[in-house]
Amino acid sequence: MRIDIVTLFPEVALAPLSDSIIRRARAAAIVEVVGHQLRDWSEDKHRRVDDSPCGGGQGMLLKPEPLFAAVEELRRPETRVILMTPQGRPFKQAMARELAGQEHLLILCGHYEGVDHRVVETLVDEEVSIGDYVLTNGALAAAVVCDAVIRLLPGALGDERSPLDESFSDPRRLEAPAYTRPVEFRGLAVPEVLLSGHHGKIHAWKEENALARTRRNRPDLLE
Ligand code: SAH
Repeated sequence: MRIDIVTLFPEVALAPLSDSIIRRARAAAIVEVVGHQLRDWSEDKHRRVDDSPCGGGQGMLLKPEPLFAAVEELRRPETRVILMTPQGRPFKQAMARELAGQEHLLILCGHYEGVDHRVVETLVDEEVSIGDYVLTNGALAAAVVCDAVIRLLPGALGDERSPLDESFSDPRRLEAPAYTRPVEFRGLAVPEVLLSGHHGKIHAWKEENALARTRRNRPDLLE
């Protein structure tokens, strides 16, 4: 898989993808991630990429020309072009799985008040939001999407089984609480059943506690 990220802050987008599991996946060529500076496609002599909104209003927007030039240079027939925006479809584990099946993602990041709408209308396959809050720019949001997608690629996680049984593997269920040693810590004991070696009972305990946790923290998932 290849992922290109076009942003004003390539170092911000790449920093979270340069350590630990994702760094190793990149080193093992499971994925190639390339950050691009949007200003490299500016034709302005001051490398400007923004302008004020038509009709007035606060702030600045990214102009269409550099984004169109970037996409036209980097896009291939199989490319999925994604725009990071709080106005997009909510990014969920199901979307991460779907994107992990693609050959090439081209992720566009906004800044200031966002991007000229002609980019959305004609250049982008999918507008994606990482949550109901507003960031200063799309670089961190792109890194979030990349991290969630890359860890699902075959070979990225040491234990191949781990992405099968975790929060959102079933979209209506969080993972059950988990404990490690010591079995007693500051008077707090690990639940007996988890030490019993009885797989049936352990499974039932996890089911019950996964549901209890979901009900408490994310009742919306059960609706
Ligand atoms: N004016 C816009 C907010 C722009 S935030 C509005 O009111 O909706 C600036 C940029 O940060 C966006 O273009 C986008 O690329 C990125 N961004 C901010 N919040 C985001 C989120 N929740 N998900 C994805 N990208 C986000």
